[in-house]
Amino acid sequence: MRAFLYCRVSSKHQTKQQGGTGVTRQEATVIEYINGYNPDPKLGYQLSLDDHEMLDPDLGKSAYHGYNFTKGALGEFKLKVLSREIKEGALIIENVDRFSRLPEHEAIREFNDLILGGIDIHEVETGIVYSKKIPNTLSKLAHSIERAWGESERKSSIAKKVWKARRETVLATGKPLPARTPKWLKIVNSEYVIDKKYSDAVNAIFKLYTEGYGTAYIVKYLNNNDMKIDDLSWSTAALTKMYSDERLIGWKSGMRVYPALVDEEVFKRAKEIKNSKVFLNKQKINGAQRSIFNSIARCGKCGAAMCVSVNGHNKLYYWCWKKRGTKECDLSGFVYAYAELAILQHIKNIEWDKVYLEGERGNDRSEELRLELTELLSYKLEIEEILKSTERPPTAVLRTLINTEEQIEKLEGEISSMISSEYEVNFDFNIDDIINQNNIELRQKCNIQLKKNIKSIVFNKYDGYIIIDIEYFTDVLKHVLIVNNKTGVLVSNISITKRGGVIYYNSGAFSIVESESEGVCTFEGIDNVSVTDYFLLANYIGSLPEKQWIVDVMYLQNNMDAVLK
Ligand SMILES: [Zn+2]
Repeated sequence: MRAFLYCRVSSKHQTKQQGGTGVTRQEATVIEYINGYNPDPKLGYQLSLDDHEMLDPDLGKSAYHGYNFTKGALGEFKLKVLSREIKEGALIIENVDRFSRLPEHEAIREFNDLILGGIDIHEVETGIVYSKKIPNTLSKLAHSIERAWGESERKSSIAKKVWKARRETVLATGKPLPARTPKWLKIVNSEYVIDKKYSDAVNAIFKLYTEGYGTAYIVKYLNNNDMKIDDLSWSTAALTKMYSDERLIGWKSGMRVYPALVDEEVFKRAKEIKNSKVFLNKQKINGAQRSIFNSIARCGKCGAAMCVSVNGHNKLYYWCWKKRGTKECDLSGFVYAYAELAILQHIKNIEWDKVYLEGERGNDRSEELRLELTELLSYKLEIEEILKSTERPPTAVLRTLINTEEQIEKLEGEISSMISSEYEVNFDFNIDDIINQNNIELRQKCNIQLKKNIKSIVFNKYDGYIIIDIEYFTDVLKHVLIVNNKTGVLVSNISITKRGGVIYYNSGAFSIVESESEGVCTFEGIDNVSVTDYFLLANYIGSLPEKQWIVDVMYLQNNMDAVLK
């Protein structure tokens, strides 16, 4: 079978510029593909360099290097295929998504023309062959191209175009449309029309869900707000299914078929939340928000998520997910209620103005980003779990991890650079009401507020104490709560403030002021500090990287004398 090689840049072109080796990287790649090609029995032919033709991208237009079906060598090749001058062949290209700069329905149609004209498309990067002889070729091709295209274009206009393309493909191939139309669509004048009432309800569902509301809450909201469809009540089961129903963004069996009801980004986020919830809330019963710190709580030893379980005496215990699951961590569990009460009381008393000082506060946009960040952080944990469980992780998963990390970094940068004074923190909750596990709605609302204002809560245990590190969406301040593991009593509350190279460690009336640049520290209020506060602070500072020297200063004889006198 004759192989037609198409590269974006030809060696002829490159030789002129670089006096180069005569073969470009792309050419080398496709040549290597042909040399290493194993015949596919479904296709029934071998490829060989003895029978090949290089399609010159510069042909006819000297400065043209783009992928194009109408101009240059590929355009001529297409015409020869359409005129039956070429009746069969294998077109070897690096990746079909390189053509995604074309509106995707055009790219699909162009490829379609070639395939129907007897040309098999060999995609070098993936090893996929698109051919008449291979089933589902068209949908696979459409999927690859659309995915690449979707990343670079705005979605609503795509939906229209793809819908059109789908219709055209259906018309051209005579393949019928899927028999069952989703209940939110009607066909009017052979076009899909979205049911307004359904669309409103679905968009409310996705909005609330991606804002962090639980499914039980959303169901109630819909049923109480005249958003039933045909007088039928919504159910949690229906909603749960909806979060991953790709027909809502127009997809069906790997093809874009319907007009989209939900914004693709929103849908993606909802799906991620759903997946991360399945992961984080395995112990969750009936939608109850057992841990109010879902998706911000982390184990201080291994970084895994925390989970709640019930012990034999019907008490809720808080565990590192890994300690509980794979036993890879050794952080022991503790009474959940102790941690919850200590943190809620602390948060209730926080002067948020001081946490998010003028110029350091976020605005609405940053609220949104914070929610996104917390979701991304749990998402990243999940991916890492997947990677750890296999020796040969699929490249797609690795790529997702890299993308996620990049996104997290980007978000963190964006959030910290945001400046606004309009931000308002609302922790106007009654603690007695919140700690009641039956108040599901209230606990969910509180969880959302926590997610918006607290970046992470990290749990450690040390010597009979639970050490709780609370980080906010600012580099300036963090708090550390130290709770007695047996009684739940808050024994110490440390704040750490960082300003212009100076770090203040505060515990009650006592502070240590550290100048990072000079490497010196001074003590304030050492005559009034309680012994417990002093030593707990020393222990805590000793656990921080490269701060042992401060602990050494704390243990100097004259300082010890002042504390113990
Ligand atoms: Zn752990």
